[in-house]
Amino acid sequence: MTMSTMESWFTLVDTTATLIQEKLEVSYLEAVYLTGVNLFEGEIIQEELLHNELLVKRLRKEYENFKLDRVSNEEIRKGYQLAILKGMKEATQAHHQMTPDAVSLFVSYLVNKLTAGNENMSILDPAIGTANLLTAVLNHLPQNNVTGFGIEVDDLLVKLSLANANLQEHQIELFNQDALQDLFIDPVDLVVCDLPVGYYPNAMSADKFQLKAETGHSLAHHLFIEQSFKYTKPGGKLVFLVPNLMFEGDQTKALHDFIKDNGVILGLLQLPSSMFKKKEHAKSIFILQKKGPEVSIPKQALLAELPSFSNKKAMEGMIQRIDNWFANEFNVKE
Ligand code: SAM
Repeated sequence: MTMSTMESWFTLVDTTATLIQEKLEVSYLEAVYLTGVNLFEGEIIQEELLHNELLVKRLRKEYENFKLDRVSNEEIRKGYQLAILKGMKEATQAHHQMTPDAVSLFVSYLVNKLTAGNENMSILDPAIGTANLLTAVLNHLPQNNVTGFGIEVDDLLVKLSLANANLQEHQIELFNQDALQDLFIDPVDLVVCDLPVGYYPNAMSADKFQLKAETGHSLAHHLFIEQSFKYTKPGGKLVFLVPNLMFEGDQTKALHDFIKDNGVILGLLQLPSSMFKKKEHAKSIFILQKKGPEVSIPKQALLAELPSFSNKKAMEGMIQRIDNWFANEFNVKE
């Protein structure tokens, strides 16, 4: 069996990362980042640190034998994603949760519909993680003139994002910071975010948010929604992956009121329950638009339970339904 381009790309990243990991005694994930930098820069940045001629020669040979310019962005993203997933299995931090591929691709389809006709767009992911979701979205946009912005609090993830974006030649400005502090960006046309779920530990920062908890810790996913609205242009769109449980519980009313005051709900699509091991971890795609002079409430919001992504027939029916909805509400024809 011959290897696909994506497989040989993954094998290159995996082999070279393992060599670097063993010599430098860093984690596999860190080494995936380091080999990503080497591949992008076209040189072995850690040559002195590696301090081993034979190893450097071996790495150079691996890199030189591979023709990166023959690999598509999507193949680069998927192969790099596999290596990151491998590394995440070894790591123990619970917050290392990459957006799954099927979800990233489905969100890309929705973003295409939502931004049809927009030129010179800006997109923000305030919890960019490894940039898997954002680069999937960028890879599927027909527009060339798109500037991306990503915020990530975790040092290693932001480095992986950087290598990932560079290898796919995407222009993404990255900020290694808490996204709930002030951001140094202008409002964007679109926010896309797989929201971090849970309590936000920094009570002092939470204090400036309308959606802070009355008592006890505030919910990070609520604050992220408020912060995202703040950095979206009037009329801009927001696509969130949210926990289904967000629509239950005692802080829900404040969230509903905030959304009603600041935006309109375009749709809520429940991801198939088969994707989640536990019911309480299930998520939906929440689609909103920030209020603005030309924004009107849709005649009907797009509400649906998505079928399993592997059920081709049911999925085709769903896509048809969503296409019709965009044609009716936004006059998007394709
Ligand atoms: N879409 C990402 C991807 O494809 O890799 C995954 C996003 S993951 C579900 C949520 C991310 O939010 C994690 O990477 C986590 O480190 C980050 N995060 C959590 N709290 C944050 C904060 N206050 N500011 C910035 N990032 C935060």
